[in-house]
Amino acid sequence: MARAWNFCPGPATLPEEVLSRVQADLLDWQGKGLSVMEMSHRGEEFLGIAAKAERDLRQLIGIPEHYKILFLQGGAMGQNAFIPLNLLGDRATADYVSTGHWSTKSLEEARKYCNVHIAASGESSGFTHVPAQSEWQLSQDPAYVHYCANETISGVEFSFTPDTGKVPLVADMSSNILSRPFDINRFGLVYAGAQKNFGPSGVTLVIVREDLLGKARRECPTVFNYTVQVEHEWAFNTPPTFPIYIAGLVFERLLALGGIAEVEKRNIAKAQKLYAEIDRTGFYKNKIRVADRSRMNVPFYLPNEKLDDTFAAEAKSQGLLNLKGHKVAGGIRASIYNAMPMAGVDALVAFMRDFEKRYG
Ligand code: PMP
Repeated sequence: MARAWNFCPGPATLPEEVLSRVQADLLDWQGKGLSVMEMSHRGEEFLGIAAKAERDLRQLIGIPEHYKILFLQGGAMGQNAFIPLNLLGDRATADYVSTGHWSTKSLEEARKYCNVHIAASGESSGFTHVPAQSEWQLSQDPAYVHYCANETISGVEFSFTPDTGKVPLVADMSSNILSRPFDINRFGLVYAGAQKNFGPSGVTLVIVREDLLGKARRECPTVFNYTVQVEHEWAFNTPPTFPIYIAGLVFERLLALGGIAEVEKRNIAKAQKLYAEIDRTGFYKNKIRVADRSRMNVPFYLPNEKLDDTFAAEAKSQGLLNLKGHKVAGGIRASIYNAMPMAGVDALVAFMRDFEKRYG
């Protein structure tokens, strides 16, 4: 069977070239007679794989040496606890920007560890917009400011990097990392689960500025203490070796494509095509303020919700998978991360036209 177009929000489609490489290497990695899955995380082969993954990621994003890179377990949701536990130090308050489901999850978890001050919120519009920087009100002396750069469920994406002055900026980039350039120097910490834009589930990337280390609270689990992990360079406990290896292959491929600036161009073209189809007649509707529409997750609604299941089932029968919206949002959602080629978007647009003709 040919590969289908997979619009899953995560775990998401991976580049076919990467999967083929994994398949070719699976039983015998580079003539060593074993699979990457079977290698010691302390052995020279895996350490070489991990070091190359880190080098390539540094090059892709432009990450200077005073930022440390960790590949951890526990998912992006784990970071909702590990960030306050690592960064609060002796401060009692952290600021959060609330723009939808995932930023709300983050701030709810943080409330277990500190006072949470909501610095800005998208609630006034039903979370269909990003609050302008001019509306943000930081608290007196927060440990950090946290926001979610792309709300995966509602499809709200920041088009700018917030300016929080000297207060460390922390971003959940789970669903848009590596899809557009950003200046890491503006951030204290960036984190992302791999399973949307750079790998399979099971590994979470944390990029943390060196001066923020060394402040973990006593109750922070040692395996999630960033400082301990940095000091032990891949070997404090067993890292998710196979997902790291696949992430490394994705980084290598992104570099070969010309880096993130090139990838961004493709992402803009894909998103424009899909939103143009949504806006074409009014049959499909996207509720997000146009300037804040996500390039990665494109939710839309049909004239009545009874059609949702029909749309998703018919699409599936044509090889267009996982288009049903998240249960809290309903409707349809197409996730078009880096690894979704334009041909997949073309196939979806053609299906949408045909569907509209038959049900419009
Ligand atoms: N943040 C965002 C923006 C997400 O999209 C997700 C997963 N959909 C999460 C956090 C949670 O990630 P995980 O399942 O890896 O904990």
